[in-house]
Amino acid sequence: ETAKNEHQWGMLLDQLKKEDINAFRTEYLDMHPYDQAQFFQEQGRDERLLIYGYLSPEEVAEIMENIEIEDIEPFFSEMDPRFAAMVFADMSTDDAVDILNELSKDKVASFLTIMENDASDEIKQLLHYEEKTAGSIMTTEFISIFKEQTVKATMAQLKKEGPDAETIYYLYVVDEDKRLVGVLSLRDLIISEEDTLIEEILSEKVVSVSVAEDQEEVAKMMRDYDFLAVPVVDFQDHLLGIITVDDILDVMEEEASDDYSKFAAITDNERPNEN
Ligand code: ATP
Ligand code: MG
Repeated sequence: ETAKNEHQWGMLLDQLKKEDINAFRTEYLDMHPYDQAQFFQEQGRDERLLIYGYLSPEEVAEIMENIEIEDIEPFFSEMDPRFAAMVFADMSTDDAVDILNELSKDKVASFLTIMENDASDEIKQLLHYEEKTAGSIMTTEFISIFKEQTVKATMAQLKKEGPDAETIYYLYVVDEDKRLVGVLSLRDLIISEEDTLIEEILSEKVVSVSVAEDQEEVAKMMRDYDFLAVPVVDFQDHLLGIITVDDILDVMEEEASDDYSKFAAITDNERPNEN
């Protein structure tokens, strides 16, 4: 496996240096985004600058989503600011916000000015939520439907919105004021007849979390209910976003290491008394 990697990386580097854009794109984009990120991170600045030129903002966004947050800042700083802003706009809003939280206020402001569209409005909104709350870890790419629509129409909507949604596994039903009124799973949808109305198959007992809820509580809730995602609502039950299980794994890791540090501090203090 490693031998294959080395061979492939050698080839990619060769294509980069020869400026063989098409060969590079074919080979590189065929790899899993995680492996793309691994290769990308091993390169020097000159090679990375070539890579930005050969890929679209969307393709670079996918790479960025596979790099640890702490390591990302230098990459955004070396990109052309306009390109960087487009990359941000193509990322999941929750990931974009995580990264922006690591950048200086000036940099954040300049990126948001360049973006100036729906994406930056959503990101600005998300940047306001307090750290470690549901709002700070949610994403706004969810699928919402109305109870008056048919299964057939919903399938068509999924085809259209599916590629950009964080998950298509749960569909959230909202009323005309965007209040959360129901939920159904993809399984519930595809086992139903095409002309069935959503109101006939939705579940009205929706479990949701408040945007101000502590992230640790959200993690516990997802564990207890076994959901793959939970909806996040404001104080009037308006659906604002969703939190998916992969983001909750990060929270659990973070909280576990916080607890461990506290524990280590206590045992350190106790040590002198033991002797
Ligand atoms: P099952 O576990 O019954 O086989 P499933 O595997 O299709 O269902 P799960 O992810 O286990 O799907 O979800 C089970 C049910 O929970 C689905 O019918 C779904 O509509 C419902 N559900 C999903 N999210 C919520 C929520 N936030 N509140 C209440 N119910 C929810
Ligand atoms: Mg299940």
